[in-house]
Amino acid sequence: MLQIGCHLSASKGFLHMGKEILSIGGNTFQFFTRNPRGGKAKDVDEKDVQAFLEFRQENGIGTILAHAPYTLNACSADERVREFAFEVMSDDLRRMEYIPGNLYNFHPGSHVSQGAEKGIEMIAGLLNRVLKEEQTTTVLLETMAGKGSEVGRSFEELRAIIDKVDLNSHLGVCLDTCHVYDAGYDIVSHLEEVLEEFDQVIGFGRLKALHVNDSKNPFGSHKDRHEKIGEGTLGIQTFEAIVRHPVLRELPMYLETPNELEGYRKEIELFKKMYE
Ligand code: FE
Ligand code: FE
Ligand code: ZN
Repeated sequence: MLQIGCHLSASKGFLHMGKEILSIGGNTFQFFTRNPRGGKAKDVDEKDVQAFLEFRQENGIGTILAHAPYTLNACSADERVREFAFEVMSDDLRRMEYIPGNLYNFHPGSHVSQGAEKGIEMIAGLLNRVLKEEQTTTVLLETMAGKGSEVGRSFEELRAIIDKVDLNSHLGVCLDTCHVYDAGYDIVSHLEEVLEEFDQVIGFGRLKALHVNDSKNPFGSHKDRHEKIGEGTLGIQTFEAIVRHPVLRELPMYLETPNELEGYRKEIELFKKMYE
């Protein structure tokens, strides 16, 4: 069954997001664990969580994806920024256990001028402090567009992080279609080859989710500007191929396109049609 949803505002709680996604035809969703620019998270509302867990069961809402704030930088040169990343991620993962067995996605970080190797070292270092044997949440490294000094611009960089983490059975990858295309993986003309490369370098077993976004920019631009499905440089046929692909069609897909709910409703509808 197709698992499709979009990014929703978490401000009114989990039950609200569950109802909202059903109202626009989806069966999963993504949300920020706190203000995307960082800041303090709201206390866990156990009543809301309980109501959501029941609602989710009754309505067949699948795996949900929590997204860490953008400001989190595990490989900043500034130790205080790295410590903030540690605190936010530890706290987020503790809270995720109220809704066990889901996914938590983060941008690996920007090494600024320290070099990717140093960045990879620091990101793995943070994960080695944060991950707990008993956790039920899978932490996902997002494939990045390679804007500025972003780490995670290549499959090799993600693989290098994973290899340095002891409890890496808790790690996976979220593939963002806009980001990989901007990073220089040609999923428009060579989807199959790109996926083969992913499988060889990282392994399909690590691929746990997709961010389905079109791109405002040309191939290899390293820009990271999302576009509505079918209105960007990836084009509708790329998403058709993704939805029909035997491995990709089994993964939960999250839209992060520039849309309000009504726009998301249309895109979800489109994905369902393409999936048939
Ligand atoms: Fe992201
Ligand atoms: Fe994304
Ligand atoms: Zn992006």
